[in-house]
This record gives sequence, C-alpha cells and structure tokens, in this order.
Amino acid sequence: MTNGHPIRAEEFELFALGVFPGEESASIQAHIDSCPECARKLAEARGRIALLALAAPEQNPPAVVKQRLLEKVRAEKSSTIAPARVRETRPSAPWWNTVWAPAAVALAIATVFLWISDRRLDQQLQQIQQATRTYQAQTEHAQALVSVLAAQDTVTVKLDATPAMPKAWGSVKYNPRMGMMCYTADLPEPPPDKVYQMWAVPMTGNPVSAGVFMPAAAHNGQMLAKVPTGMDCKWFCVTVEPKGGKSAPTGPKVLVGTL
Ligand SMILES: [Zn+2]
Repeated sequence: MTNGHPIRAEEFELFALGVFPGEESASIQAHIDSCPECARKLAEARGRIALLALAAPEQNPPAVVKQRLLEKVRAEKSSTIAPARVRETRPSAPWWNTVWAPAAVALAIATVFLWISDRRLDQQLQQIQQATRTYQAQTEHAQALVSVLAAQDTVTVKLDATPAMPKAWGSVKYNPRMGMMCYTADLPEPPPDKVYQMWAVPMTGNPVSAGVFMPAAAHNGQMLAKVPTGMDCKWFCVTVEPKGGKSAPTGPKVLVGTL
C-alpha cells in the first residue's frame, strides 16, 4: 500500500503480467477499477510490456512448442463451442484437401474429355480407313473392268431370255487368258429370299460360280468375276438361287448364252 494505493509504481508491470496471486490480484483489480491514477499506470505498464515484446528479437519457436500451442488453442476453441455444435462439426479436412479436391475434379474432367476425344478420333480414323478400303476396292474394280473390256482377246456373249423370264436380257464379256468376266443383266426383282447367280459352264467339268447379284447391281455392267484362267467355256447362264448362292446351279435358268 503506497499513499492509499495498494500497488507500487514498479509493480504495475508484474501485475499486468499476472504474477500476483489470485486473491491479491483481485483486490488490486478492484482498486484499479475505482482509481483513475492506478488505471492509467496499469495502462502505461501494459504499453511498455507491448513495446518490449515488439522490441524483442524474433525467434522461431521449436516445432514441438508450436504444436503444443496449436493444440492448446484448438482445445480452447472447441471448449468455447456449444456441445451441440461440436457434434455437428465434422472433423476438419486438411488444408491441402481444398487444393487436391478441385485438382482431382479437373483431372477427372480432363481424363473423361481425353477419353471422349480419343474415341472420337478412333471413330474418325475407322471411318477414314473404311472409306479408303471402299475407294481402293472401287479403283481395283474399275481397273479390272477396263482391262477386261479393253483386252483384244475378250469375247462378248449375248445372254438370251428363257420362258421363265421372257423379257430378261444380259451380256457377258469373258477373257479366258485373264480368267475374268464382267456381265450386265436386266432382270426383275427376284422372289423373296432369292438371288440371281451367274455360272460359267466349261466344256468339261462342273459349272463355276461367277457370283450372286441383285438386278440393280447388274444393271450397268458393273459385275466382275474371277474364274479359273484358261477355262474353255461352252456357255453361260443365270439361275435363281437361295440367298448366299449355291455351289452348283439348283434353280430355274433365266438367262442363257452360248459361246
Ligand atoms: Zn490507486
């Protein structure tokens, strides 16, 4: 007690740092609350302590100290939260989850996008390959047709209608040296599940199939067939056969031509 004040001037710093025992500290605080002079001195003491703290060289505390401090802060925080809130609160995710979650989503989107692009490119490639194959086949077909039609030793055989289809007609261009024949035919639509089949019939041996066809395909002399080279053909005929054709003629003859 100094001049009616319970604390000496040099003790204000200690009081501000909380060094005084609880009971004494409480009575001093009660005085300070009603004594403007002591309140001013306490405020000055707190200011000096703050300045000292700022002036003190910065030091990195050991990791274990930091960890304990954080634990303490967390414990205090959770104790201030109402129990109901605590139950509602989920365990907090590590901070890097906030980075990884969007990154994972972006990666997933990119993966899906690449997968779709890859599939699209694959489909485009398949379409191009298919178109190339079709083009190659058409080119080869055209080249073979030209070579058969242009060859000096290609013979033309007119195909005559039979009583089965009186209005039908056709024509065969045959080259025994090349073993190639191309033909044109004007025929009505065959019965359901039936096709037309062209036959090359040699002097000796069984008729050789020169392919099955539908009327539309044979309209413009587009049909081309490979037959054994050097075959001595006696005549040609077209029969009506089940879809897919037969290894030997079974159906009615609709066109016949003799060499
Ligand atoms: Zn006082």
